[in-house]
Amino acid sequence: MEFKIIKKIVHEKSRGGNMIYMDHSATSPVDPEVFEAMKPYFQEEFGNASTLYKLGRDGKRAMENARAQVASIIGAEPKDIIFTSGGTESDNIAIKGTVYKLKNKGRHIITSNIEHPAVHETCKYLEKNGFEVTYVPVGTDGLLKASDVEAAIRDDTILITVMHANNEIGTIQPIAEIGKIAHENGILFHTDAVQSVGKIPVDVNALNVDMLSISSHKLYGPKGIGALYIKKGVRLEPIIHGGGHERGLRPGTENVPAIVGFGKACQLAEENLDEESARLTRLRDKLVDAVLEQNEEAYLNGDREKRLPGNANFRFTGIEGESLILHLDFKGIAASTGSACSSTKLEPSQVLMAIGLEEVEAHGSLRISLGRENTEEDIDHAITSIKEVVDTLRKMSPLWCSKGE
Ligand SMILES: *Cc1c(COP(=O)(O)O)cnc(C)c1O
Repeated sequence: MEFKIIKKIVHEKSRGGNMIYMDHSATSPVDPEVFEAMKPYFQEEFGNASTLYKLGRDGKRAMENARAQVASIIGAEPKDIIFTSGGTESDNIAIKGTVYKLKNKGRHIITSNIEHPAVHETCKYLEKNGFEVTYVPVGTDGLLKASDVEAAIRDDTILITVMHANNEIGTIQPIAEIGKIAHENGILFHTDAVQSVGKIPVDVNALNVDMLSISSHKLYGPKGIGALYIKKGVRLEPIIHGGGHERGLRPGTENVPAIVGFGKACQLAEENLDEESARLTRLRDKLVDAVLEQNEEAYLNGDREKRLPGNANFRFTGIEGESLILHLDFKGIAASTGSACSSTKLEPSQVLMAIGLEEVEAHGSLRISLGRENTEEDIDHAITSIKEVVDTLRKMSPLWCSKGE
């Protein structure tokens, strides 16, 4: 009984109090079970996992258990997983590690034009340092064509990196097909699967990937921890140097509490994947249908079908995304415009520009990303609130009022 009450308080907290949290693509609350699993490793089990006495060995064992849990959710072998500080670091280690290793073979990289900054900015940096990058454009549906990637291949192409699911519009790319093409051409293939792992089935073998990035905090684990899958036989040049941990690719004393939490989060996500993705798809579809039906000139950004279960990204003619977010915040709903990473910048979202929107349209977008704590009532509240806010803002909008009046 007492246990239940404690659980409930933790759960309320992890919902952000009375807030309805609908920004799971930015980050997710730590699952109460994950938090419980981590706790001992801050205090009694504080040992350095690279030491030989019992305390260290216990930490090491917990870490290896977590490695198996992370490997399992992507169908990999535990020995092919290295722990990193998160998605950004995994992307950097994979991309720079590959091209530095292979720079004498070629200097050309292929990527898409809707990558997360962790990939996009890494490519930009490499362009300033002797590498060439082709940014293959997506269509207006936010999807990449595998044949376009194939057409971009050159004799000196050494790496293809394409994200699995997009963080803003949720579109899911044809990774298995691109991976097949990469391998037919003897090119290494990396995917940033930060948004997809734990949301849709991800299997490194089925997807034909050589490297795959994951982040813990997008799947109800703690922040500041992630993993990179590196297929057996793939060799990377280290970009961080130190004590040789994580096969020399990510040296530094292991963050055991975070690793344990990340492992637990993967285990829970894997156990609940089918059920939860079906539930979120249903809630998301209800939201999308209602919003498009109830609001004039409301549109969904990105392909309707090939997208993450919890993702809806709307645009409303004549409305500024920022005003929408602030008004929804007053109504107790946390959502976002483009991506969390660009919300403090004034430039329009690169992803929305890439799918062919005008700058003013790109500024008018609303990303709702649903997650584990969201209920049917939350969806009903969101539908009503969006309608109210859209109506209010349009009454005040010169852009909208001047339309045909
Ligand atoms: C969040 C995110 C990242 C960055 O992960 P961190 O763990 O926050 O560094 C990378 N790629 C994608 C697609 C993301 O959504």
